[in-house]
Amino acid sequence: AGRLKGKVAVVTAAGQGIGRAIAEAFVAEGATVHASDLDRDKLADLKRAKKAKLDVRSTKAVEAYAEKIGGIDILVNVAGFVHHGTVLDCEEKDWDFSFDLNVKSMHRMIRGFLPGMLARAKEQGSSGSIINMSSGASSIKGAPNRYVYGATKAAVIGLTKSVAADFVRQGIRCNAICPGTVHSPSWETRVEDLGKTVGGKDKAMEIFVSRQPMGRVGKASEIAALALYLASDESAFTTGTAIPIDGGWTL
Ligand code: NAD
Repeated sequence: AGRLKGKVAVVTAAGQGIGRAIAEAFVAEGATVHASDLDRDKLADLKRAKKAKLDVRSTKAVEAYAEKIGGIDILVNVAGFVHHGTVLDCEEKDWDFSFDLNVKSMHRMIRGFLPGMLARAKEQGSSGSIINMSSGASSIKGAPNRYVYGATKAAVIGLTKSVAADFVRQGIRCNAICPGTVHSPSWETRVEDLGKTVGGKDKAMEIFVSRQPMGRVGKASEIAALALYLASDESAFTTGTAIPIDGGWTL
């Protein structure tokens, strides 16, 4: 415990899944954690965090939230949505929604919080860390039926590297995490949906697991462990990376 002592962190989509696991890990390591989600109720049982409803698709809401919180050390952009299908299933409204939620939200959050992060890093002679949730399904790997999702998550990697390049001399690091399949509430829904076409949830689970070289899907806590490393000063020499964490899916 204490790896994030004295640090202030902001985590989006902390209501469930990976975002929740990250918020919990950061709290356990002594950070002051501002946890937000579109659905405030999902944060109810998160302990020892400052909680807020935040729709990362709203520029106004993000600006107000950043102004209220001020200087922070760690920003974790987790909010994202998995659209299912090929280019032929992706209407313009699907494209726009996915890019808005998965990519532009990160632009909004970084625009909102970076000035305060820079000031704090300068004042304290410390470093700030931005962590963006990408995916193995991105520029790393083409996954079937993840057309616009893969495009958004590739954009996240580009955005991450650009921010890292621009602020590398100003004490700000920016890295992307690229998970393979991770057990989360929305993944459960994807398994159920696939189950409808392949003859049941068990069969669908088998299909997901079979593409994992390690023979299992990941745990949100395993992704949180990487986020914790990237948030802490242990990773002080690491910036602009897109780190796969996927049980061998992209090896
Ligand atoms: P999830 O999809 O189960 O939960 C997403 C959370 O985001 C929910 O609590 C939801 O209320 C919140 N949310 C939705 N719209 C929002 C908005 N506009 N503003 C703020 N919050 C909003 O969680 P997950 O499966 O752990 O996924 C989290 C992130 O990790 C996503 O970016 C996802 O693409 C990425 N990821 C997940 C997996 C996986 O297999 N689960 C793999 C790779 C990457």
